[in-house]
Amino acid sequence: MSQLSTRTCQLFSDYHTHPQGHRVQRYTQTLLQPWTDSARKLGLTDIAFTDHDRYHTGIDFDEIDRLLERNLDVKIRTGIELDNDPIHSAAGRNWIEKHWEKLDFVLGSVHFLQCADQMFDSVPDGAAQFEGRDIDAINADYFRRVREIATTGLIDCLAHLDLIKIHGHRPSVKIDTLVNETLDFIRARNLAIELSTAGWRKPVNELYPSDRIIELAIEKGIPFTIASDAHSHVQLGDNFQRLAEKMSILGIREVCVYEKHKCRSVMIRDS
Ligand SMILES: [Zn+2]
Ligand SMILES: [Zn+2]
Repeated sequence: MSQLSTRTCQLFSDYHTHPQGHRVQRYTQTLLQPWTDSARKLGLTDIAFTDHDRYHTGIDFDEIDRLLERNLDVKIRTGIELDNDPIHSAAGRNWIEKHWEKLDFVLGSVHFLQCADQMFDSVPDGAAQFEGRDIDAINADYFRRVREIATTGLIDCLAHLDLIKIHGHRPSVKIDTLVNETLDFIRARNLAIELSTAGWRKPVNELYPSDRIIELAIEKGIPFTIASDAHSHVQLGDNFQRLAEKMSILGIREVCVYEKHKCRSVMIRDS
């Protein structure tokens, strides 16, 4: 390996975090402060809170303002993760429209396929949704739903773009064919995609998205955010050293940060 490919960079942002975890928990200083403490400890200076839209009632903008005042050295972005939940996301979309001006950043996700009451990415239970099914058809359906989310006009960035691989099911067709149209959609709408280390914690054990999708995104000029999808403050910046190595190898030298939905590209420094 050449010296160049082993040189890594200092990652400074994490744009996918869930302070509420998997239930409604009202934003308070007690809930949020550990996240900024963790960020500081890790050398992260720019983080976005992106709780699931189904827990929007827990989000309190005044509490985030108070947190900002108490932590001037860490930029904290107010965000949310909008998905395609057939039961809750209509209310989530309304909430986002209503609070659009107050939000810095909205992630778009697909967590639901045919089954209205179970996320396909539940581990291990969601794997049952793939049993005996045509994996190519599931993939095509999944990316169609991603394009649907991308066209809502309510998102800034796509989360875990190839989440459909989570349980290790692989399509038989070339990934280029599957994702090209979706990546063109994303580019045409000036959206970003995230590089998410969460995939390394899942059965597939692979970064979201795959190297090939990242290469295609680079060719099309799609910007990237970086993300851990932490559901606890101890998961913040999870596996970022490994991510930094991967980004060096793929030649990614810039990441996107957001303020009031405006994307700004920032060069990353060598560590
Ligand atoms: Zn998600
Ligand atoms: Zn998430």
